Amino acid sequence: MEAHGPAPTRRTLLRSGAGLGAAALALAATTATAHAGDRRPRRAAAYPPTHWIPASTSNYRVSSRPTAYPIEFVVIHVTQETFPDAVKIFQDPARQVSTHYMVASADGYIGQFVREKDVAWHAGNKDYNNRSIGIEHEGWVDDPAWFTDEMYASSAALTAAVCDRFAIPKDRDHIIAHSEVPGSDHTDPGPLWDWDRYMELVDQG
Ligand SMILES: [Zn+2]
Repeated sequence: MEAHGPAPTRRTLLRSGAGLGAAALALAATTATAHAGDRRPRRAAAYPPTHWIPASTSNYRVSSRPTAYPIEFVVIHVTQETFPDAVKIFQDPARQVSTHYMVASADGYIGQFVREKDVAWHAGNKDYNNRSIGIEHEGWVDDPAWFTDEMYASSAALTAAVCDRFAIPKDRDHIIAHSEVPGSDHTDPGPLWDWDRYMELVDQG
């Protein structure tokens, strides 16, 4: 940075990027946008309440995302188990599976089992596990009675917050079914999952 002369404008700072990290640049850009027009900037969606129920440390890999890997996808699952039985699985070191979050059918209660910085084993694809957040939903793919209003609302609020936190586009290229993970032999969340409704709720944040 120059020692003399007028202070650099935000624009020149943005152009040069001198000494600014990506986060600072993003912040500067946000601030510039906020001051540029009279439309209020969209606030990042807040996380809904979540409850820490740790998975067995044998069932995920400690990491330092998004530094180690970018977080680019949210993978939507259905458990094919009850919530309590799925908790037992995530806490059983022999099972070698986990998820970041699981949403309960009756009331939309959200358990968190693995920190977002760590790699949960949910997608059956190492590359996608590395780059995604997994959200399980209590129920069965062939019985939509499990997919309650409370579950959709709670899960969509969570997905919106995750997307805002990691700058993941809120579209179906980035919010994907487990069945859409390359190489997946799973069918969840299945054709009875109401994607149109879900994405609309995600969009509303
Ligand atoms: Zn799945």
